[in-house]
Parts: sequence; structure tokens; C-alpha cells
Amino acid sequence: MSMQVQDAGARWHTYLTEMKEEPITLLCHGGAEEMALHVDFRDLQAWDPDFAVGVLEHPREIIREGENALAALCRELGHAIDPPIRLYDLPPDVRRYLHEIGSDDIHKMRTAEVIITRVSELKPRIYDADFRCVLCGAMMPVRQESEQELVEPPICDTERGGCGAYPGSGKGSTRFELVIESTRMINNQFLEIQELPEEVKGTGQPARATVLVEGDLCNQFLPGERVTANLLPYVHSEYRRNRRTPMFQIVHRLHSANRESTPFTEIVVTEDDEERIREIAAEPDLLTLLQNSIAPSILGSGKLNFVKRSLVLQLFGGVSRKNADGTRLRGDIHLLLMGDPGIAKSQLLTYMSKISPRAKYASGGNISAAGLTAAAIKDAFGDGRFTLEAGVLPLADMGIACIDEIDKIGSSDRGSLHEAMEQQVVSVSKGGITTQLKARCSVLAAANPEDGRFSKRGPNQSLMHSFKETGLPLPLASRFDIIWMMRDEADPQNDTNIARHILQSRLRGVAEARIDQGVAFDPQREEEDQVWADGVDGGRYLTVGFLRKYVAYAKRRYHPDLTAEAQALLVEYYSAERNRAEAESGDYSGSEVIPMTPRQFEALTRLTEAHARMHLRPEATAEDAGCAISIFKHWREEENIKDEAEMQSGVSSSKRNARSRVQVHVRDLHRERGEAELNEIYNRCLRENITEDQVDDAIQTLLRNGIIFEPHTDAFAIS
Ligand SMILES: [Zn+2]
Repeated sequence: MSMQVQDAGARWHTYLTEMKEEPITLLCHGGAEEMALHVDFRDLQAWDPDFAVGVLEHPREIIREGENALAALCRELGHAIDPPIRLYDLPPDVRRYLHEIGSDDIHKMRTAEVIITRVSELKPRIYDADFRCVLCGAMMPVRQESEQELVEPPICDTERGGCGAYPGSGKGSTRFELVIESTRMINNQFLEIQELPEEVKGTGQPARATVLVEGDLCNQFLPGERVTANLLPYVHSEYRRNRRTPMFQIVHRLHSANRESTPFTEIVVTEDDEERIREIAAEPDLLTLLQNSIAPSILGSGKLNFVKRSLVLQLFGGVSRKNADGTRLRGDIHLLLMGDPGIAKSQLLTYMSKISPRAKYASGGNISAAGLTAAAIKDAFGDGRFTLEAGVLPLADMGIACIDEIDKIGSSDRGSLHEAMEQQVVSVSKGGITTQLKARCSVLAAANPEDGRFSKRGPNQSLMHSFKETGLPLPLASRFDIIWMMRDEADPQNDTNIARHILQSRLRGVAEARIDQGVAFDPQREEEDQVWADGVDGGRYLTVGFLRKYVAYAKRRYHPDLTAEAQALLVEYYSAERNRAEAESGDYSGSEVIPMTPRQFEALTRLTEAHARMHLRPEATAEDAGCAISIFKHWREEENIKDEAEMQSGVSSSKRNARSRVQVHVRDLHRERGEAELNEIYNRCLRENITEDQVDDAIQTLLRNGIIFEPHTDAFAIS
């Protein structure tokens, strides 16, 4: 070791002058974007393999030497700067899982794939401290390496023009005063990092760690981001009752970090996997196969099959696009499952969170302090500063946020859900931190009725009637591409099937005690590397592990554009639907039935893209558009959706029609007879199938809005 460290200064000097002349000149002239010298480890290794290994073994000392050599070179060029050296692209043998890093790794260079969960405010700390000797006035600079204690000069050094006195309280001793004006500060910041959830086996909790970030690396990272972090683990003493204990806590110094450039690198898809994925993608009825593979232990009958189909398309998702003007079109598909308690909503959500890469499951009832979006926490690192913590949506960036019991989410989170679902960012302005976090995820939410059970919906009542019963804010409805209503309704044939299915599932399950005793295999483990698994009813389905790879592969590789034929088909369907509405409401003046909104049209294009991606197609064909339309159509029929404008305004067309008809009759009667008598309004409306209740309701609204007034009891006029 000592050889490498002693030589380091000279080696660096040679390396920097031979290999880094241009970047150093750039740094000196302020032309480099970041104030740091970037060194690709592979270059250093090619230049001198032994020296490169030494850097990984003794990074603190050797990089310090390098920075001194760099500062000296800059001074030669006439610039008094002291930029840090940052190494990138470290070799795989320093890679560790975060939970593996222990006493053997202290002061070594280590690399870990992590997700950043918290980021604190900045704080300046002293970097180059200038001390003045109170006896002779000489200045003694001391480089401060530790953020934990301020180190004073050990002596008033005669070699640096001092008087030779030691600090102390005896005769001839001196004291040192810190001269703030000439002292150099650097910023620092704490991060909390967490192991990638994908790397945590079983049900264990992901390891977490605290990271100190300094200088040019400050304010470069946000909670929710995934990075490859090059870390220098060191230790902090633990204190108990103000006394040091022999226990140490590992803290990491961030040396450098790379943001991931391709998504889902954590899911390894081998060449064999790729071949098998291509085989499956060519299956004749792929959508049905995938639909049956979602939560196969929940029997898919009737509507549930359609729900599962939409879940399949959500897994793959549409294509997010960016326009030249900076606006962004969402590709992710948002789904809401409403249903009575006891319907398998939660199981579906749990299953989806296992299949989807980067999924996050949360239940509205017991969500963390950061909630769905983000929270500013005081003193999270025990040093009094504010810390920004990412909530569920930023942590599920690029995946699916499965939110159970969304109706129990706090009101502040509900407010920010709108932005998060449409713009796919979370804006934070809390505790002095103002920023935006990325939340490019699909939302799969489940909602229960406020009063325990949904009321029975009449044949002409819309889905919104049920949506209102969840107590969720109405405008939120328009953020979902598809809303399903799942009812627990008695159906003798179906009930028998379900009962049989539940029994078969139980019989096929392996008793946990037998697995623990080692007398039976864990069926989940056995399944891990398989493509196919056998269902309880004899059918075959795809395993969770394989589906994850399939989805990651498709999302990473395929970003289908719509072909001209697919576009034509979608436009045709859209305009036909809009024309139909006009024809149906022809007898009313000013058509108010809007069956499909542009927002819903966008949802349809997303479903089309998702369908193409599922088939690993580079382009979305007419067939994809056709399938998406049939899924969409079926949903609208199942849920009796005629008026999607209601999903925007929360007011149904029949209500809006009643209001506009009442207004017309009041105006006509006012013109004909000077005023509109209530009874005559009733009569005229009754001929149009508008009930007295609806008329009363409409009159109240028109009065409130000042459109009509009541000159005397039960007579009205236009204002
Ligand atoms: Zn002195």
C-alpha cells in the first residue's frame, strides 16, 4: 500500500499531463460544465493497471494526491482552483449489494445500484480553514477532511512563518482564531439511499444507508432517482449518553454517480429469455394467454376477464412522447377498480405489483409520511435540516403505482394526484425545498364505497353515480383511462365455479409447515425460472418471473408508432361515436350529449400502442387499433357509458338536458305569456320525459346561477 500511496502524487502528475491536458485547460477557463475532472476508470486502467487497482484499494489517500497534483497543475496555468477528481465506470469487482457492505469495505471504493429516497437541504461546511495565531498573528491554513469536527493546527508551524507555540492554556501557549473571511466553504448534503427493490430476495426489507454528498455533486440528485453510486464507506462513532461506544455506523461518501441510461437494467433478460419471449409473443391468442396469467388463482369470469385484459395492456403501456414545444404526452395507462369490499381487488393489485417492473404497492389506509407524492421532513438525518422524501409515485417512476384504498388517501395527497397523473411530475414546495420529481408511472388504484357497499345502480345510472359513492373528488375520474365497477352479485352458476376454483387452489397449495420442515418444495421457488406453470383448472399460464422479463423487454425495446391504417380506424371510430351522439340527441336544441371526449380518444391510442408493444411490434397496426377499440367498446357497454363528458364535469347529460330544456320552456313561456308558470313548465317537460323532480332540480340551479328569476310564487322569467 505505502508504495502506491507514496508514488501516487508523481503518477498522477504524469497521468494528468500526458492524458488530461485539454480537460484541465477547460477547467481552468471555466469551460467545463461541472467543476470536476472526470476520469474514466478504464482509461486509467489501460494507462497503468497496477496504479488503477491501487486507486480502488486506497481511494481516499490516492485521489487526494491526485487532487493535489491537479491543483498544482492549475496553479502552473495561473489559476488558483482546486477541482475534485471523479472516477467513473468502475470495474464490476467493486460492485456490492448495499446490505453486503461491512467492515471489510471501509475506505475502499465500492459501487452499488441504488434508489435515492431522501435528499436533504444544502449546508455549507468549512473546507479550507484559515487560523490566526493569537501570539504572533501568523496564518495557519488547515484542510478540513471531516465533516464531523473542526481540526485546528497542531502547532504554530515555524516552517510556515509561525512562532512555534503549541495551543493550550499554559505559559507560552497560544490559541488559534478561525478567520471566516478567508476560509473556503463547500456545500454538503445528505442523501438516503435504498437497495433496489428487485434485488431484495424474499420478503426482506431493502437495506438503507446515509450518503454524504459534497461540492460539485450537491443538488444533482432527486428522490426517486435510480443511480449507480460509487461510494467510499467510512464510519461514524455511535454515542450513548454522550460517550463513544465501540460501535460504528457506516456512512458513505459519494465519490461519483451515474444515472441509469436504459431503463429496467435491473431485470436481466438473457439471449435464451429473449428467444422464449419471442416464441410466446407469436402465440395465436396472446391477449387471452396473458389475461389468464394475471392472478390465475382468482377465477376470471365474465367481466373480470375484461378487467384482466385492461390490466395486461396497462402492464405494457403506451408510448410517452415529447413535443418540440416541450409538452409531453403521457403513455402510461391509468386504471381504477371500484368494487364492494371482498371482491378480489387487492389481490389483483398485489399481483400486478409483482409482475410489473418498478412497481410499488401502497394502501391508502397506512401510507408512509411521504404519502403518494413527497414530504419535507425536519431533522431526518439528525442535523436539523429539512429533507425531501419521495412518496409512492416518484418511487414507482417507470413502473406501476398500485394504490389500494385510494379513497382513504389524505386530502393534500389527493390534490397533488391530478398533476402527478397527468403531467407525471410531483411539484414540491415544502420546507424551503422547491423542485419537481419525476413520476412517470401508471396508476392502478382500487376504491371502496364510503358507506361500506355501493348502492345498486339503476339501468340508466352512469358509472359516475358509483364514483361519487367512493367520496373521491369528481375531476379525478377524468384522469383514469378506464374505470371498472366490480360487484359482488349472486349468480348461482358463477358462484359454484368460484367455490370450486377456491377449493382447487387450496388443495394445490403446499402446506407452509411442510415447506419449512423441508419435506416439500416451495412451489414459488420452483416456479422462478420457468416460463409455464399449470393452473388449478388444468390450463397453463405464464409465471410471474417470466412475465416481468417479458414486460421489461417489451418496454425497453418497443416504442410503436401508429400506422396510417391504425390512425384511420381510430379516427373513424371516434367520429362515428360523436356523430351517433348528435343523431340521438337531435330532438334537443344544442346537442349536449358528448359520448367521447378528446381525452378518451387519447386513452384509446394508448391502448392501441400497448397492444402493439405486447406483440413486440415496432408499429401499431390496424389489428392493434381494432383490438383496442373492442376492449374500449366493451368497457363502455359493461359500464353503461354513454356520456363521457360527465366524467369531466360530474354532471350527466340528462341533468344538463333537463336544465337546458327547462330554460327553453321558461324563455318561450315568458315570451308568449309574460311569465312561465310552474305547472305549464311541468306539462311541457313531461312530454319530453323530464320528471317533475328533474324540473324542480333544474329550476333551483337556474335560479342559483341567476339565469332565471321568480317574479312571484311559482312563476318564472328569464333574467
Ligand atoms: Zn504563532
